[in-house]
Amino acid sequence: MDALYQHWFKKTGRTKEKTEEQTQSARFSNHQQASKLNAFFKDNPNQIENSSKGYVSMVGAGPHDPELLTIKAVKAIMRADVLLYDRLVNKDILELASSASDWIYVGKRCGETSIKQSEISHLMVQLAQQGKRVVRLKGGDAFVFGRGGEEALELVRHSIPYEVIPGITAAIGCSASSLIPLTHRGISRSVTFVTGQVVTGAFDAWSQLMKSGQTLVFYMGLEKSSEIQKGLITSGLPDDFPVAIISHGCSPQQQIRITQLNQLKELSKTLKGISPTLIVMGEVVKLREQLINTVQSVTEYEVT
Ligand code: SAH
Repeated sequence: MDALYQHWFKKTGRTKEKTEEQTQSARFSNHQQASKLNAFFKDNPNQIENSSKGYVSMVGAGPHDPELLTIKAVKAIMRADVLLYDRLVNKDILELASSASDWIYVGKRCGETSIKQSEISHLMVQLAQQGKRVVRLKGGDAFVFGRGGEEALELVRHSIPYEVIPGITAAIGCSASSLIPLTHRGISRSVTFVTGQVVTGAFDAWSQLMKSGQTLVFYMGLEKSSEIQKGLITSGLPDDFPVAIISHGCSPQQQIRITQLNQLKELSKTLKGISPTLIVMGEVVKLREQLINTVQSVTEYEVT
């Protein structure tokens, strides 16, 4: 059966002849909240929407599943003249844009020759200066390991008007869809998002925090799992500290592997090249065992 978003896309994608009101009511006609949402859409359009000058919407596309987009993000994509999108953006999301819009891939992947950050910023500035409504579409949230801040600073430097539309970051999306609460009363009082790329030096501090009840989420950590395992164990975390590795989170290919800290390196070897992958650590990982019992959606997603 079509996912709800596919149904929306059939109704909305590339069918700009319809009035906005028609498409909206088609999309939400089965929903109890339809009238509220339609009223919401008709609310005072913001200044940026009416601007004849170019501008940039920095949009968080969330982790893969288009149904996790915000309504604000959908609106920005639908009115875009040009979309600059990254590797982790689900291509189905582009289908929301007008048939007249241009899509420009500016993705990067480790080890590949790819467009430079400065070139992306330059392109974004140029397009906005030409009067285009530019959507800069990034996986998850633009301001979480997404270089959104750097790009926004570049826009400010060139006096380009812009807005930032939040997205669900991978840590939030993947842990929820894997049934791992990032915080839980009596178990974890705080959560830290870190990049696996720059980990040296912090293991001792993290180990202490995690012992006293903290969750740690590594973005881009798979390649560094050997260093992560060694660093945390050397700094005092037990061998059996709970770990979850979530690949292709929030997608039909989502896979969740539960392991323990002293197995992280070995397990990661078997997952080499699987991207995107997120590592969640902490006692909260164990809650999944109980939470999975009556949940429905996760069984639809899970392949293992
Ligand atoms: N701005 C993004 C993060 C970009 S960094 C966000 O807010 O989510 C890219 C890293 O994010 C990946 O290497 C991976 O660790 C993580 N990631 C992004 N999407 C993911 C997904 N669907 N499943 C698992 N990990 C994901």
